[in-house]
Amino acid sequence: MLMLDILRKLVQDVDNAPNLVAALDVIVQSVRDALNTEVCSIYLLDERSNRYVLMATHGLNQDAVGNVSLGFSEGLVGLVGQREELINLEDAASHPRFHYLPETGEDRYNSFLGVPIMNRRKVLGVLVVQQQEKRRFGESEEAFLVTLSAQISGVVAHARALGQLENLHAPKGGVATPRIFHGVAGANGIAMGRAVVIYPPADLESVPDRATEDITHELQQFNQALLGVRQEIQQLDSKMANSLMPEERALFEVYLRMLDDNALPAEVIERIHAGNWAQGALHSVIDEHMQSFAAMDDAYLRERMADVRDLGRRLLAHLQQQTTPNRDFPENSILIGEDISTATLVDMPLDNIAGIVTMTGAANSHMAIVARALGIPTVVGVSDLPVANLDDAEMIVDAYQSKVYVHPSRELRKRYKEIIKEERQLVAGLDAYRDLPAETPDGHRITLYVNTGLMADVARGRERGAEGVGLYRSEIPFMLRDRFPSEEEQRNIYKQQLAAFAPYPVTMRMLDIGGDKDLPYFPIDEVNPALGWRGIRITLDHPEIFMVQMRAMLKAAIGLNNLQILLPMVSSVFEIEEAQHLLLRAVSEVQEEEQVTIQTPKLGIMVEVPSALIQIKDLANIVDFVSVGSNDLTQYLLAVDRNNSRVADLYTPYHPAVLRALQYVVNEAHAVGKPVSICGEMAGDPGTAILLMAMGFDSLSMSASNLLKIRKVLRTIPLSEAKALLEEVLAIDNAAVIRSMVELELNKSGLWDLVRPTQKPVGGKVPA
Ligand code: PEP
Ligand code: MG
Repeated sequence: MLMLDILRKLVQDVDNAPNLVAALDVIVQSVRDALNTEVCSIYLLDERSNRYVLMATHGLNQDAVGNVSLGFSEGLVGLVGQREELINLEDAASHPRFHYLPETGEDRYNSFLGVPIMNRRKVLGVLVVQQQEKRRFGESEEAFLVTLSAQISGVVAHARALGQLENLHAPKGGVATPRIFHGVAGANGIAMGRAVVIYPPADLESVPDRATEDITHELQQFNQALLGVRQEIQQLDSKMANSLMPEERALFEVYLRMLDDNALPAEVIERIHAGNWAQGALHSVIDEHMQSFAAMDDAYLRERMADVRDLGRRLLAHLQQQTTPNRDFPENSILIGEDISTATLVDMPLDNIAGIVTMTGAANSHMAIVARALGIPTVVGVSDLPVANLDDAEMIVDAYQSKVYVHPSRELRKRYKEIIKEERQLVAGLDAYRDLPAETPDGHRITLYVNTGLMADVARGRERGAEGVGLYRSEIPFMLRDRFPSEEEQRNIYKQQLAAFAPYPVTMRMLDIGGDKDLPYFPIDEVNPALGWRGIRITLDHPEIFMVQMRAMLKAAIGLNNLQILLPMVSSVFEIEEAQHLLLRAVSEVQEEEQVTIQTPKLGIMVEVPSALIQIKDLANIVDFVSVGSNDLTQYLLAVDRNNSRVADLYTPYHPAVLRALQYVVNEAHAVGKPVSICGEMAGDPGTAILLMAMGFDSLSMSASNLLKIRKVLRTIPLSEAKALLEEVLAIDNAAVIRSMVELELNKSGLWDLVRPTQKPVGGKVPA
């Protein structure tokens, strides 16, 4: 077989393996066969002990698996890890770093080839082949192992994240050890509470084990699910009666046999009796079956593996349908999950949600923006969070430092309790700014708007003195439904927003879906959604949706006349022209229907795309105002996906290219006499807000949670100082340096607590 074919098959086998141990076993066996060596082993770095544990081997003593380990810098394995590159030796024993592990029986093997298993610049483990014959492994063998290691690193990282590795080493029933995880701040703040795992429906892998106190209830749930699935299969069978041959329909019979009282269900019931909740019991039974199937070579039996998985998912879906509505969210719940969608979040009992932590996502993912609007401290992109093991674990979320503490020590909890108290005092102190204008000490006035989506934002925005709405994300009410809202429903929703702020302006953005904003009932499946069908591209293709929305907005504004309309994701002049045409049509339709004179609302565009930036003068000329969507603009300028935690470090508003681009937009829009606002997250960040003010933005629009903070910043730093700072930073070529310069300035002005209250600057230096 060609190396490439071997690799392909191996990766496929690894994907099919039910868990990490099985996957590692497949790897070592296949590598040994493919390279025709005598030994292949995998050592994985255990984060707690910082030692390389032998996790799988073919060739060495099997009893050593899970039982022997090497220190971080011990032996040749440690050396491969330290150097982060492969080591190929003809005579391993003569190397000064050779460390003999007697339990493995490896003394017979002379040649050694080890490659590191790397993921995101971190060593996860080492893959080793050994042979008795003294020889240097060939170049193609090296290349094979390096390729393989790169391919499996994702599997190992994922398994580690799901806690599969910990299950192997953690002392069972031992005391939970405090741990720290790093991610990216999604919404600033600090939260303390207990974890509630949010798992996607019917995802067996991420169902946690959970002790149950009500076995009878769990049994009842399971039996109900069982009945449901049996019925489902019978229905499928009869539905297919005319279109499938009887032998093809035999599958359904197999399914029903597996669901027989004495088969799978008996095992699940046994585990429920042992104290696991129904979903956890189901997970462990299915997992075990998958493992035994995976070990078989027979293709037919491997097929059955897919059947077991399918049945498992069906049962889980039924169980989750029963349990989701009644899930318990105690006070101070911290939602954790691999991914938590905006729709899932807003469906929660929000009063009880103290914090959110997800493995995926980045600072400006949509869910993070909504969390920010709701004022829920959030850390996203914690890729190595062992979600499945953390249900009910005590946690601290420190979004200021992008850190998550699991099982924090008593001292740490005490310290954070104090910080939370200080933060509350700080917020209470900010109340004084509620009714003061956003005016600098040297008399420069700037308008502060609020970004809204939910009704909760409206109340909070008004409370904190917003002078109108700079961005109403109209897609949010669309996300909370299971179908497009009707014109009348939309009219009512919009009216609430408009009425709450009248006579101040309310800037309503036309539906902005696609990209990372999906409607459950309008799925868009694209390879590259950020560059695909999104924003105005969708609504111009669906004038029926666009028109209903415009008509609803116009009707809602009757008698209030404070509506402004904003077009998202504009990249060309023709899009504005088409939208203008539809707007005029909508105005005349509504006028006729309602028999009132309709004032044509001001029309603005969002600058989110590089083409709009470069062509800003042409675009600004034909609209009434411009609003910069810096979240997307940063993503497209830097070519950094705003949702991808792998590149989250590269996504920074302090990038010189971003700052210079923003200054350009302000100058060009003003040159044609149009006001320019900014409604991306930069507007609500103390550091970037002073730069934006200095650039000449007429207004800043931000989430309600930042309004008072920003007002304080603006009332503290004179425009002249902000301008001097801007001039300095625009000459700098490095984002990190710019950020430190800005933070130093805030620190000098006594505003540090608004930036990163949990990290104090030492000796005039801001923390990195
Ligand atoms: C933006 O892109 O900056 C913006 C405000 O829009 P959203 O975050 O909703 O994409
Ligand atoms: Mg946007």
